[in-house]
This record gives sequence, structure tokens and C-alpha cells, in this order.
Amino acid sequence: MRRIGVLTSGGDSPGMNAAVMAVAKAARYHGMSLIGIKRGYNGTLCRSHHVEDDMVELDLDTILDIADQPGTYLRTARCLDFLRPEMRAHAVSNIHEMGIEGIVVIGGDGSYHGAMELCDLGIPCVGIPGTIDNDLAYTEMTLGYDTAVNSCVDDIRAIRATSRSHDRPAVVEVMGRHCGDIALKAAAGSGAEICIVPEVSWSIQEVADRLARLIDVGNPRATVVVAEGAWDSMQPMDWHRYLRENGVRVHDDDPITTAMLAKILKFKTKAEARPTVLGYTQRGRTPSAYDSWFAFEAGSLAVNLLRNGIGNQVIGIKDGRVYYLPISMALQQKREFNLSLYNLINSL
Ligand code: ADP
Repeated sequence: MRRIGVLTSGGDSPGMNAAVMAVAKAARYHGMSLIGIKRGYNGTLCRSHHVEDDMVELDLDTILDIADQPGTYLRTARCLDFLRPEMRAHAVSNIHEMGIEGIVVIGGDGSYHGAMELCDLGIPCVGIPGTIDNDLAYTEMTLGYDTAVNSCVDDIRAIRATSRSHDRPAVVEVMGRHCGDIALKAAAGSGAEICIVPEVSWSIQEVADRLARLIDVGNPRATVVVAEGAWDSMQPMDWHRYLRENGVRVHDDDPITTAMLAKILKFKTKAEARPTVLGYTQRGRTPSAYDSWFAFEAGSLAVNLLRNGIGNQVIGIKDGRVYYLPISMALQQKREFNLSLYNLINSL
């Protein structure tokens, strides 16, 4: 292969730039030129006013400058048009026109489906799991997950310092979409006493009872870590009515939020529970050493695979080592939630 492309797609994650740098280094080493495809699959459709907003030759020196930065230099975006077969055919003709013979796709499971479609149309692709959510079963860690957990642990420690000062509990929401892995490791890593995740059914009463028990035994500043997807596994409760009875104005169609949960816990335990939603800081941190290492090995392996004519693969970590397997096999694997760690956090 003489020329390959690289794109970042779906939500950004720390380490994406580091992976692009590794791809750029490996491409240079093997004498291949590298095209950066902008804004996920949008770049392949070549619809921008300026060519360089779609596809641009990547210069290794520029990439070296941004390798340790969070976010993605190539930009990222959804591309709903890519779900349409005629648009994918158009993309393939643009890719051929640019002389791109293979593509490294850095993104989550949605992006992997796009990569499989491109492989079916004759463009070999290799995927790197760029998402903080850790929601891909075939890999022990996704790229950005470790950084996101570190970011949460830092922030929860800061929240716990003020909770301790005021002897009051904290309710902290972390990201992860439908996956509770960030919440789980962030709770364990910060010493939080309660963890709520989408994988395990829970009730507000249970959480309130545990919080009340912790207060009883002399821990008035316990931390409740809530995964953003945890509302899906919450057992039904007429919390609208409960809040109204306690003088809080809520509409029937208001969804439950971390702030509401903190209010309910406050009424049930009489402790001043304070809510914090950590939000996008988790995605925008400088990649950890672990993520930078993974990005480095994954990027160089991706180029090696393409160079050897091996497409339709994704890269992950198994038993602590970087490995690869076919995309379809990776997507078939079922995630196993770490229930014993969850039970440990919620019982000790
Ligand atoms: P993530 O990659 O983080 O899971 P998305 O699910 O939003 O993020 O997917 C990113 C992009 O991948 C989509 O906007 C679309 O361009 C492409 N994509 C997702 N699913 C498919 C599919 N079934 N076929 C083709 N392209 C897809």
C-alpha cells in the first residue's frame, strides 16, 4: 500500500490524537503517505467548500505537536448519510479518487459498523476502539476509558474533600452511556460508598437506606456515584408525587436527574446531599500513560495489518496485551459486568 487514511468518528476520547500520531509514524516508517479524513465519515463524502475540510495530507510534524493533546485534531462527528448505501458508494469512489487503499477507523461500535460496510465495498479497514465508555466486550479497555476514570477519581476526591469538611453526602454523576464501567472504577478508585449502574436493578429506597445506615455508623459524608445510564435500571417509584409532597415543584414529564435524586435522598435521610454532574471534563483530559501506550501500539499495529493486506479487523487489549480480531467477531461478544466489584463497593 502506498497511501492510507485515518479518521476519528463518534464521541471524541482522550488518546485519539496519540493514535493518529502512531499511525502517522508507522506510515512514514513504511514509506506510505497518510490522509486525514475529517469529521468521521463526513470527510469521505467530500461536501465541504474547502477540500482540506474533508481530506488532508497529514504532516508528521504537525501531528507530533498535538499527539499528547485531548480531543481530536481530525474532528469527529456523526454522519447519518453514511447509513445510506448510495452515499457509501459515493464515499468509496471519493476514497479511490484520493488513492487511499486502506483506512484506520478510530471510534466506537457505530463507527465499527461503518468500517465493516467499507470493507464489504472493497476498502480494507482496521478499527481502534476510541470511546471513554468501555462498552466493547472484546477489549479489556477502550481508548480513553482509563483517562476518563482518572478524571472522575480526581474530581470525586475534590468533591469528597468538601463533603468531609461539611459532613454531608455527595451524589456524583459520571458518563458511560449504557455502560456502568466508568462509574464502577471511579467509585472504587475514589473510595465512594455507593455505586449505581445501568447493569444492575436498584431502587431509591435501597440507596436511601444504605446512606442512612452509613450516617448512623458515623459516615455522614458518603459519596454516591451514579452512571449516566443508571436511570434505565431504576425500579419504578412515584418520585414526582414524593417530591411534590415535600414542597418541590416538578412536572409529570420531568425526567429523573442526579439533582432530583439528591433531593429525594435529602428528604429521606435528612442529610444535605449535594449533586454534581461531572460531564464533558471526562472526555477532555490529557490522555493517561495507559491510554497513550495503548494508542501507540494500536496505531502502529493498525498500519502493519493494512500493509500486510489484513483488513476487517479491530484492535483491543486481552490479558494486558494488544491483539486484533475480525470486526464481526468483536461485535458479537457480550459484555460481562464486574458484579463482584459492584457488590464490594455497595457492601463494605
Ligand atoms: P460510536 O462510533 O461512538 O458508537 P455512533 O454510533 O454515533 O458512534 O456512530 C458513528 C458513525 O458511524 C455514525 O454517525 C455513522 O456515520 C457510522 N455508522 C454507525 N452505524 C452504522 C451502520 N450500521 N452502517 C454504516 N455506518 C454506520
